[in-house]
Amino acid sequence: MNFNTALLHGGVDKKEKYGSTLTPIYQTSAFYQQSAEDLEGIFSNKTPGYCYTRVANPTVTAFENRITKLEGGVGSVATSSGMSAIFCALTNILESGDEIVSSSSLYGGTIDFFRDLEAFGIKTNYIENNNFEQIENAITENTKLLYAETIGNPCLDVTDIDELAKIAHAHGIPLIIDNTVATPYLVKVFEHGADIVINSTSKYINGSSNAIGGVLTDSGKFKWNKEKFPILKDYIKFGPYAYLAKLRAGLFRNAGACMAPQTAYLNQIGLETLGLRMERQCTNAGKLAEHLEKRYPNIIVNYPGLESSKWHGIGEKLLNGGYGAIVTIRVGSKENAFKLLDELELAYRLSNIGDTKTLVLHPSSTISLHSTKKQKEDAGVFDDLIRISVGIEDIDDLKEDFDKAFKGIGLDA
Ligand code: PLP
Repeated sequence: MNFNTALLHGGVDKKEKYGSTLTPIYQTSAFYQQSAEDLEGIFSNKTPGYCYTRVANPTVTAFENRITKLEGGVGSVATSSGMSAIFCALTNILESGDEIVSSSSLYGGTIDFFRDLEAFGIKTNYIENNNFEQIENAITENTKLLYAETIGNPCLDVTDIDELAKIAHAHGIPLIIDNTVATPYLVKVFEHGADIVINSTSKYINGSSNAIGGVLTDSGKFKWNKEKFPILKDYIKFGPYAYLAKLRAGLFRNAGACMAPQTAYLNQIGLETLGLRMERQCTNAGKLAEHLEKRYPNIIVNYPGLESSKWHGIGEKLLNGGYGAIVTIRVGSKENAFKLLDELELAYRLSNIGDTKTLVLHPSSTISLHSTKKQKEDAGVFDDLIRISVGIEDIDDLKEDFDKAFKGIGLDA
């Protein structure tokens, strides 16, 4: 199946009992069985079935199956949020004393979470993205994974996944990629060697900002070694399913990280139009970026699709069908940034990306508020930076909204 077909038909159970084309919302906490023995079978993973929604739920399974198909992995686990997917993906294989080597260009919430991990004896070494030599040098015998975002939020740097995967595998560790900003529409990260992929479904997958959620998918290709990963020793016998088996039997259910059935249902609807939306949003982002760059020489426009972007080349190599739908601009000062945000009429001032509607934000005072000055700079967050998550509106209306706002604050050319 090609991408748009898979969005509609991938992993769908065409034997749904009453003929519903979407798996309905199984809005129940628990599932009864015909006998105590049946229940025991399900609890001990000897028989397939459902017992408790914190462990699994048919609506959530339907969503997970479609994501697995889209990503080309062996299985997925849907979670209560993108942060929860990151929490599960990492803590499933980390122990006290372990280290992470990560791109410094990350979503602020992820940087906050990596700091939380320090209390459990897990340290993160941040390295400038794609600086292969420094990444290589930062890996110690305690390093258990490499971490990066395909397109950094909000830096918009594009990660050379093929190169990072080579480095990770040469050291016997997995590459974990947060693909939230790029989505599987722009790149299937497993084809480039990544081992585990995370998506915050709250963004492009859901598409309409109506539910917080996350999902992680395992390629099943990483060869877990029990000397390097003793934490997985009881699961290595499951081969390509080792990682997911451990997660499902352990932290996922014990931390209560499950996705709500209603969220899974809304995400299934969102997924159906992911391709159409991404196509339109990437085109709009490209046009808006070009317009702003041409018309306002006194500001800096950052978009991987622009020839002027430092990441245009790698974006061209890695991404298919566009360069993402986020544009950032630097307008000279925080004061200008706030004034411009307040002048915009169509674009919503809010902290989210991936909606059908255009959203704008000042990252430094919001999503990166808790990062240090250095962390902000390394993540491409400056005081005069505005992030624009471009929606599906008519492009002329968007251009007009920005032109009016620039005029309103006297920054027009
Ligand atoms: N990863 C990236 C790249 C994000 O932008 C976000 C949220 O903005 C997250 C993860 C966290 O996702 P959630 O808000 O669903 O927890």
